[in-house]
Amino acid sequence: MKFERLRLTGFKSFCDSADFKIEPGLTGVVGPNGCGKSNLVEALRWVMGETSFKNMRGSGMEDVIFGGSGRRPSRNNAEVVLLLDNSDRRAPAPFNDAETIEVARRIEREEGSTYRVNGREVRARDVQLLFADASTGARSPSLVRQGQIGEIISAKPQARRLILEEAAGISGLHSRRHEAELRLKGAEDNLLRVDDVLKQLDVQIDSLKRQARQSSRYRNLAADIRRHEALDHLVAWREHEASFAEARRRLDADLIEVAERTRAQGEAARLQA
Ligand code: ATP
Repeated sequence: MKFERLRLTGFKSFCDSADFKIEPGLTGVVGPNGCGKSNLVEALRWVMGETSFKNMRGSGMEDVIFGGSGRRPSRNNAEVVLLLDNSDRRAPAPFNDAETIEVARRIEREEGSTYRVNGREVRARDVQLLFADASTGARSPSLVRQGQIGEIISAKPQARRLILEEAAGISGLHSRRHEAELRLKGAEDNLLRVDDVLKQLDVQIDSLKRQARQSSRYRNLAADIRRHEALDHLVAWREHEASFAEARRRLDADLIEVAERTRAQGEAARLQA
């Protein structure tokens, strides 16, 4: 991975925009104590996705923003842009279509960091992977800070293993394994939740089946009741029809008798007269 240029704006002691060219071969930065040499290396680490403010020698990540000096007020944001040469097209697929890759990290007070690669917003994880795949990164032993050589010599085997793994170019794989394990864990959690939901649904299915049985019994009974009620009405109607016919017959007989009596009464009246 070839670094071409580092641009700092508002980062630590770099209040104004500063362009730091990294030419082929050896590039040296010379200056008196406290002039900001280590800040440059920290800017490199930071843009690569450093998450620990302690590694930035601060008490919070916002300490990387220019905090003001005797003559200049403080700023509210800081940005570091790192330009990578990608002419041999060895970047990961999503970023591999450009000649130069521009990785930018920006921090705003109280809003946290955002990352962009070639102008497109990406996750911190994507930037970390981009560098891990090229065997470098914010925590990479290829970035050696003051006093670190001594630490490596006296380091435990486990810590030395990290250096060897990075030299073998497999740190990207480790990062990916970690991400894959997290996703796997997420998928397992989801499966457990699905199991819970399935159990709940089983309970609901049992209760719904019971309700469905009750409802079908209710429908059969209701149909029986309706049929019997209809039969009752039919029987009652027939009974009423019979008694109506009987009443009509009696009415006809009574009418005949009334006519007979009227005629007899007429006859009697005539005889009396
Ligand atoms: P040395 O040679 O002693 O290691 P150096 O050249 O590496 O020093 P740095 O440690 O990079 O210097 O820079 C320290 C300087 O950066 C200090 O002067 C400090 O005041 C300044 N500085 C650090 N953080 C900020 C900030 N947030 N805002 C303004 N200035 C800052």
